[in-house]
Amino acid sequence: MRKNSVTILGAGLCGALLSIILARRGIKVTLLDRRPDPRKTEAEGGRSINLAMAARGIRGLKYADAFDRVEPLLVPMTGRCIHNLDGSTELHPYGQAAHEVIYSVSRADLNRILIDVADEHGIDILFEQEAVAYYPEEAKLRVRDLADSRDYDVNADPLIAADGAGSIVRRAYGDSDIIGGREVLIDHRYREFEIPPGPDGEFQMTANALHIWPRGEYMLIALPNPGGDFTLTLFIPVEGEHSFAALDTDDKVYAFFDKQFPDATPLIREGFRSWHENPEGLLGTVRCKHWHDGGSMLLIGDAAHGVVPFHGQGMNLAFEDCVLLDQVLENKQADWEAVFKVFEREQIDNANAIADMALENYVEMRDTVREPKFLLRRELAFALEQRLPDRFVPRYSMIMFHAEIPYATAKERGIVQQELLETLTEDAESMADIDLDAAVSLVESRLPPLH
Ligand code: FAD
Repeated sequence: MRKNSVTILGAGLCGALLSIILARRGIKVTLLDRRPDPRKTEAEGGRSINLAMAARGIRGLKYADAFDRVEPLLVPMTGRCIHNLDGSTELHPYGQAAHEVIYSVSRADLNRILIDVADEHGIDILFEQEAVAYYPEEAKLRVRDLADSRDYDVNADPLIAADGAGSIVRRAYGDSDIIGGREVLIDHRYREFEIPPGPDGEFQMTANALHIWPRGEYMLIALPNPGGDFTLTLFIPVEGEHSFAALDTDDKVYAFFDKQFPDATPLIREGFRSWHENPEGLLGTVRCKHWHDGGSMLLIGDAAHGVVPFHGQGMNLAFEDCVLLDQVLENKQADWEAVFKVFEREQIDNANAIADMALENYVEMRDTVREPKFLLRRELAFALEQRLPDRFVPRYSMIMFHAEIPYATAKERGIVQQELLETLTEDAESMADIDLDAAVSLVESRLPPLH
């Protein structure tokens, strides 16, 4: 019989949401985190300050009845606002229907709300408790109480490890095939800072867009916050002509921004201060052969599958995990091992698919988006979606707006769709050069209906 209690390590976005969902199922949850209670402290500087929330994230919040609390914090972003080198801008809508928008949300506020809701469900939440070791053979977690540096052991059986991409639990398995975790860093990093609000608290750029300054090898992006400011993130190589290594003095940073992001630089002003305060963040992908060790331990969220942030899907995927785990539980598997096994079987290909697509999307955001052919393919993709809504949904839309389409399906169909778009636009300069009826017939012959 399945024990009716779990320990969740990590009260980040995934651990907090999961604790609520499991508590609602009548499972007794203990939630541990090394951080102090985020409701009593300032937001952690230097981490991704806001996040893009899309359909899968919203579905997770609604599933836990927490969406109403989060909704007032959301800033809709209807498309990408591309900033060219000459300072001109273009808005590329993300979708065609009014509801096809994504939302900017403060990571810290979202986390506080989830902790509040977890608290209201009577979950035992223990802050400033750092896991310092995990012993897989004994299913034992060694925890340090940061208030008095005292270590104690928790027989966390089962343990659900939601302790992020650097998971101490996953790393405790080393190279063994039980988990077979692999962490691959890319040779780019990021740094966050801000565009403050204007003198009257107003947004200094269009508020309802995700701003991108694509510059080929690197890019700057900005997401709006409800207070009129934007979180800026520079993604750039670690080494090379344009790199963090090259930006080693204030003068070089300002000169670089002035040349490459001429319309953003005057808006940043004192925002450059936070450039200096915030650390460079690493970017990488975590993949595992397995996510569970029998019925004693399950990895979830970034601990199981860290993805690079270029599709804005890490949290969305983590929330999808939480919903799926609960749906597996609903089917009354006999024990935790059976639950974890089904969960892994259902989700691991999806996680690998979005990990791949997120890496691809970096190239699209920083480079391809500037090509005229990219815009023509996008226009054609929208036209095909209008004509064949059950057969041709642009890949971006499948990922962001269609929580019912698994990531693996989006990846698979996306490959066929991209081939079709490339063929159909090969000799075309505008939509007038494309025979749409012939394009529709071609799509019908290559892509089965979605359902
Ligand atoms: P985390 O958020 O990392 O939480 C892990 C928790 O575990 C933390 O609270 C930590 O304190 C705790 N913990 C860790 N180790 C220990 C330990 N040893 N003992 C005790 N506690 C521990 N996703 C999106 O969906 N949309 C976006 O737009 C987006 N943008 C991003 C931008 C950037 C720059 C980055 C880096 C990520 C972005 N993501 C985005 C990804 C998103 O942040 C993660 O996928 C998400 O936070 C994963 O949640 P998690 O709870 O699994 O892990």
